[in-house]
Amino acid sequence: MLKTEYHKDLTNMNTFRMKVKARAFVEYDSVADLVEIDLEGLPRPVLHIGGGSNLLFTDDFKGTVLHSRIQFIEILAGNLQNSEEDGSLENVLDQVRNRGEQIEVSVGAGVVFDDFCKWAAEQGLWGVENLSGIPGEVGASAVQNIGAYGVEVKDVIRTVYCYDLQEEEFVHFDVEDCGYGYRDSVFKHPDYRGRFIVTHVVFRLSCDGGPKLGYGHLEQAVNLSAAGGKITPLLVRNTVLKIRSEKLPDVASVGSAGSFFKNPVVESSVYERVVKVAASEFPGIDVPHYDLEGGMVKIPAAWLIERCGWKGRRMGGAAVWSKQPLVLVNFTGDAFPEEIIGLEKRIIASVEDKFGITLSPEVEHI
Ligand SMILES: Cc1cc2nc3c(=O)[nH]c(=O)nc-3n(C[C@H](O)[C@H](O)[C@H](O)COP(=O)(O)OP(=O)(O)OC[C@H]3O[C@@H](n4cnc5c(N)ncnc54)[C@H](O)[C@@H]3O)c2cc1C
Repeated sequence: MLKTEYHKDLTNMNTFRMKVKARAFVEYDSVADLVEIDLEGLPRPVLHIGGGSNLLFTDDFKGTVLHSRIQFIEILAGNLQNSEEDGSLENVLDQVRNRGEQIEVSVGAGVVFDDFCKWAAEQGLWGVENLSGIPGEVGASAVQNIGAYGVEVKDVIRTVYCYDLQEEEFVHFDVEDCGYGYRDSVFKHPDYRGRFIVTHVVFRLSCDGGPKLGYGHLEQAVNLSAAGGKITPLLVRNTVLKIRSEKLPDVASVGSAGSFFKNPVVESSVYERVVKVAASEFPGIDVPHYDLEGGMVKIPAAWLIERCGWKGRRMGGAAVWSKQPLVLVNFTGDAFPEEIIGLEKRIIASVEDKFGITLSPEVEHI
């Protein structure tokens, strides 16, 4: 089914809860509906959104917003299903478990990503449990290359299926062709941005993969939750959800778009300058950093922001989250885009002033 609305209120369709409207809004249920959309007759530009959890609407949107409701989770069992009379989910999973094989699962772009994580964990399938609790939908997960706790979604993607708006045809990208990098993909590059609409994604999950606990405090927390018992995808998922809830705002009650800034990657000389500033202003405190290839260094933006005194600070309706300074929030619930942008500018200026590093936003400004 196709649903077109004009002057659509987007407050509930962006997790920052900016009170903005779209001139036109089209929601579709299937690929057949998607190709039926007459974009020629609709206001431009066109923006496809998912859950709106990585977006900051800076004003009313003058064009057309598209949203997918293609929602299915389907096991691609191949010859597994054919080899048995009973092709039920349980039977297929049993066969995969017995053979210790990987399993391919096709998921519609409009499925809430965490619903997919929950489904996989409940089936005992490994692969996306560390990504539990990340807001947004499956289509955007493949655009953003979402990541958390040492796993990126590219690690489990096999193929991304899209509709090419320019050539008006269906195409697919195998994972090697998606140009995945840190929160990056070909779909975000200037030549491709907005051209490909993700319709569904095929993931590779496994029955005997085992947990990936090498990141942060996850291993400790999981072992504590398991307390001598078996570590399952569901246990890892629940532990991740608990850790996240202690650190990040719940988008159901506090508007935000998660990490607002990217972690800067700088030359080693810039890092040395930060170390000097830290030594004189915060003696005894080390500068957290990760050495990268080519002598580059990644410094956590959260640390820089906190050292500039922003953690927990409020400016009008906007604030820096008190438990994670990388997250800006719509503190009052009715903050204007200008207030979020005002806070963003002040933070960028003060980090620049103190450390000589210019932060850039991770959140897409629309
Ligand atoms: C509290 C909080 C915590 C977060 N934690 C994490 C985290 O741990 N790790 C992480 O990686 N991210 C995190 N994020 C960011 C966000 O959840 C991800 O970027 C997510 O993938 C955005 O999904 P969405 O469906 O909301 O996409 P949107 O924000 O609606 O869109 C994001 C981009 O994808 C494009 N897009 C959306 N759907 C489609 C489609 N079907 N086809 C083509 N393009 C499309 C949009 O045009 C836009 O460019 C967090 C956000 C919040 C609010």
